[in-house]
Amino acid sequence: MTGLVILRSEVLVILRSEVLVILRSEVLVILRSKVLVILRSEGLVILRSEATKDLLYFVFLRKMRKFRVIMIETLKDTRNLPDSALEELLESHDATLAQRLKDTAREVCLKVKGPEVLIRGLIEWSNVCRNDCLYCGIRRSRLGVPRYSLTAEQIQECCERVWNDGIPTFVLQGGENPAAAEGLIPTIKEIRRRYPSAAITLSLGELPFELYAALKEAGANRYLLRHETANPEHYASLHPAGMRLDCRLACIRELKFLGYETGMGMMVGSPGQTTLNLIEDLRLMQEMAPHMIGIGPFIPQDGTPFENCPSGSAETTLRLIAIMRLMFPEANIPATTALATLLPGGKQIGIQAGANVIMNVYTPITERRKYSLYKGKTDV
Ligand code: SF4
Repeated sequence: MTGLVILRSEVLVILRSEVLVILRSEVLVILRSKVLVILRSEGLVILRSEATKDLLYFVFLRKMRKFRVIMIETLKDTRNLPDSALEELLESHDATLAQRLKDTAREVCLKVKGPEVLIRGLIEWSNVCRNDCLYCGIRRSRLGVPRYSLTAEQIQECCERVWNDGIPTFVLQGGENPAAAEGLIPTIKEIRRRYPSAAITLSLGELPFELYAALKEAGANRYLLRHETANPEHYASLHPAGMRLDCRLACIRELKFLGYETGMGMMVGSPGQTTLNLIEDLRLMQEMAPHMIGIGPFIPQDGTPFENCPSGSAETTLRLIAIMRLMFPEANIPATTALATLLPGGKQIGIQAGANVIMNVYTPITERRKYSLYKGKTDV
């Protein structure tokens, strides 16, 4: 049986091959032999279907705290919620609910990922980029940015500092520049030779498939490519003509095909973004199943088309981290530098909301300020 039941104007039930009993003014939900919840007078939740392994059957009620608590438990148990419930978690003014969401995410993180916070060594190897993303401080057309690319020797020096600090993961990040990325191949081979057990993560933008393959062959094994927004129109409003969401997603699929551990992610509060866009991001990530998820608030940079736009919300970023942790318990989720820039102590607060990764910057001090993606970027 598949069906849709609407109770009053606020309650929605979706049924699939399960049993539902509704009593007048009290609600009893039975899922096969399992009684999942009884709520007085106003709403109910239906949890996962054991038979179909399908995720979610859910009823929504806005004014009931008990219901909201169940909503978080439902997300934890089923790794899913309907759009209306996700919207509620992201937008609710109920501080108790928000704290419970973060606490639950932290509990799940501790249980699944353990207590260790993973530290990555971030090396911003070049700020030369062929693209002109409207939000980005190192976009091609932004004037007054001294451009740099680290030499192979400088990169090796950075890796040595990272390794000597006991960090087994190098993250080489730079602007999108296929020729320069190709030039990195010998350096990556050398990093792999020197540190056979290290993880080598690249974040170099959209590159040809053959180049992704060659970088993998050289020794890289992880790749971060944030999709930024899952909505094509919104994507188009953040990027110049010629950059397309479907191309970016095709790159992410290629990276996965090649066997990279692959990261996705988005900005929170970028100009024109709605809560529904964020939910679209969640749905996209359910489809793509990334190994890593990077979520940071939008922060404007002077000299970009968005310089006068307000920053994204740190609170919404934290709630998204928590939701991501409950939806994707095994994923690596950083507490980003952008979050720490917007919120003092943001890295620790992000960890408390379910993140498990921190990126420490190992870019040489002389170049660090030139990698100014957004205003006031902290260097941890
Ligand atoms: S966001 Fe990335 S691809 Fe876009 S301009 Fe900045 S560095 Fe280049």
